Amino acid sequence: MGSIMGMMKKIEKLPLVSELGRADVDGKVVLVRVDYNVPLEMGRNGWRVKDERRINASVETIKYLQKLGAKVVLISHLGRPGGRARAELSLAPALESLKKLGIHAVFCAEPPGAAARETINQLNPGQVLLLENLRFYPGEKANDAQFAKTLASLGDIYVNEAFSNCHRQHASIVGVPQHLPGFAGFALDEELRRLDQLMQKPERPFVAVIGGSKIVDKVGAIRQLANLADVVLVGGGVANDFLLAEGVEVYRSKVEDKTAGGERNLVDLAAELIEEHKYERVLKDGYLPLPKIIYPVDVLAAPSIETDQKKLVQTIDLTSNMKDMPEKTRLVYLDIGPKTSRLYRELISQAGTVFWNGPMGVWENKLFRDGTHKIADAIAGVNATTIIGGGDTLAAIDAFGLEKTFTYVSTGGGAALEFLSGHQLPGIAALTK
Ligand code: ADP
Ligand code: MG
Repeated sequence: MGSIMGMMKKIEKLPLVSELGRADVDGKVVLVRVDYNVPLEMGRNGWRVKDERRINASVETIKYLQKLGAKVVLISHLGRPGGRARAELSLAPALESLKKLGIHAVFCAEPPGAAARETINQLNPGQVLLLENLRFYPGEKANDAQFAKTLASLGDIYVNEAFSNCHRQHASIVGVPQHLPGFAGFALDEELRRLDQLMQKPERPFVAVIGGSKIVDKVGAIRQLANLADVVLVGGGVANDFLLAEGVEVYRSKVEDKTAGGERNLVDLAAELIEEHKYERVLKDGYLPLPKIIYPVDVLAAPSIETDQKKLVQTIDLTSNMKDMPEKTRLVYLDIGPKTSRLYRELISQAGTVFWNGPMGVWENKLFRDGTHKIADAIAGVNATTIIGGGDTLAAIDAFGLEKTFTYVSTGGGAALEFLSGHQLPGIAALTK
């Protein structure tokens, strides 16, 4: 209980971009931190943006500021250039995507500094400028004080429209708002409200579905979700940690046992979570004395993640006597099995709220796609508030053509998980200080 009360206090009133009027921004330079960390592909006329969702998400804020007469300067990172300029990681291709959305921005390749400031000052009210990839300069990731100050000196007001980066202590996220009045963009505000509602007053039963392979992040989220949700269904690579915690053989499956700092054994933590939440599940049909954290009862296993022959895939019943298990094999678990899928779908069908993050298996390989696809269909079809997130999860639902069927698609990824884990996000804190 203590931890839930702790989380409830956390959301303070954020200054919102929607509270800014013409008098506040007319003729002023507004630095908007967007997340244009988008996948690029080589097209006939050079690099172009392959997935424009993150660019689309910034449009409302940009157009709002344009209409009020602001000079809008967009700042973002892209990829991991390692603190130096790399042509293939230039943000310039984003201009084309912005144009399609009716925003005719100019590009500035100059580093933050006098020359860039000169170009920015020449903008007309309502004009938009996109600054080159901030990670071309080591000061961005290092949150260098001087770099943050120089960046802030380019503008009068700061707007954060990059929720997905708010868990990072980078100059454009936490450094700049130390020097400028800071506001939350429309999309960032919506993301926070959606996640907050999930934490404060979800329609019950609240079913959380967690999968994928970033196990460290996911176990942390499961720890909080076990308090918030009525049932937590675990699949994908994360499930292996829980199986191992219960003494179930996982052979050579992906397992992570240490947190990033190496201080916590995740398998032990999984065991604690299972024990702590053993008999608590409540569903619409009444109380069912079953564990709150549920992990697979069967899996699809194969010799390797690249297995391409169906005959090499076997279904393993994990509830059977371990003596029946194949011995000394090199198996890896790559998808939830059919019984698990049926059980999970039954529970999802009773939900009032579903939060889903992380594929149930290695869906990129069609032999291990079924678990993720069926769970996605079940969540898409349930009459409930459905919130999904995670880069690979979104790629999967996109591939299944289900994008439009969820209540809210979070672009927050790791930041959303951190938020749900009960952590204060540095980028949000920087706006409320
Ligand atoms: P998201 O981006 O949705 O948060 P993650 O990045 O945590 O998800 O994990 C996604 C990846 O997890 C997928 O690319 C998938 O191949 C992989 N994955 C799912 N199940 C397993 C498994 N059992 N073993 C290894 N990798 C898995
Ligand atoms: Mg991912």
